[in-house]
Amino acid sequence: MSVAEEGSGTRAQRIAANLRVLGERVRTASEKAGRAADDVAIVAVTKTYPASDVRILAELGISDIGENRDQEAAAKAAECGDLDVRWHFVGQLQTNKARSVAQYADVVHSVDRVRLASALGSRARAAERELTCLVQVNLDPDAAAGVLGPRGGVHPGDAAAVADAIAGESGLTVGGVMAVAPRGDDPANAFERLYSVASAIRDRYPQATVISAGMSGDLVAAVEHGATHLRIGTALLGDRGSNVG
Ligand SMILES: *Cc1c(COP(=O)(O)O)cnc(C)c1O
Repeated sequence: MSVAEEGSGTRAQRIAANLRVLGERVRTASEKAGRAADDVAIVAVTKTYPASDVRILAELGISDIGENRDQEAAAKAAECGDLDVRWHFVGQLQTNKARSVAQYADVVHSVDRVRLASALGSRARAAERELTCLVQVNLDPDAAAGVLGPRGGVHPGDAAAVADAIAGESGLTVGGVMAVAPRGDDPANAFERLYSVASAIRDRYPQATVISAGMSGDLVAAVEHGATHLRIGTALLGDRGSNVG
């Protein structure tokens, strides 16, 4: 993966260089797929990286920031309260964290059960905030209905029920779907399955146009299969390596 080397220039210059390379990869993939490059938005996943990186990204024109742990996300969002960025919560979410997440998140990508939708709904109303929620789908072909995988996500057959639960909560809007490609499977197959789940949900909820799919390692397959949002960490900020996360 092409990530600017440590030590070459300032942190801001390295991130800017990474962003140029990423933009080129997304443009090439979009052209190949016959899509407009501006159909595909980038959510910069800043987990394990400091708030100063969020500032650099914002200055480079990135306005969507993703985090996967509530404690870290809450602190970073507070530190960056003066920035005009949207916060995306992309990690697995326990119901007891819904209250905290509802304070700062604009988009929650990982809604994978009815109970979580109700918790987010009541917390969003209490905080007088509006959250866009994506149904996280488990694309592991071996996942049994009703069983959440190790990385979360609802079985495709139960995705519509989660969308209905989101739609039934005032304060929440169904934005679309999200998935992480399962390890060991061709991501193209997985993203194709996601696309058909996304289409079924969009038939019921026309505003639910988001397909959040694709990370640094599988973004080409995601763009080919209709992703509207890529969640990119490593390719922008470098290898998290010994950092936890
Ligand atoms: C960390 C993370 C990403 C970004 O992954 P990279 O491979 O670093 O681009 C995307 N989605 C989720 C849910 C993540 O936790």
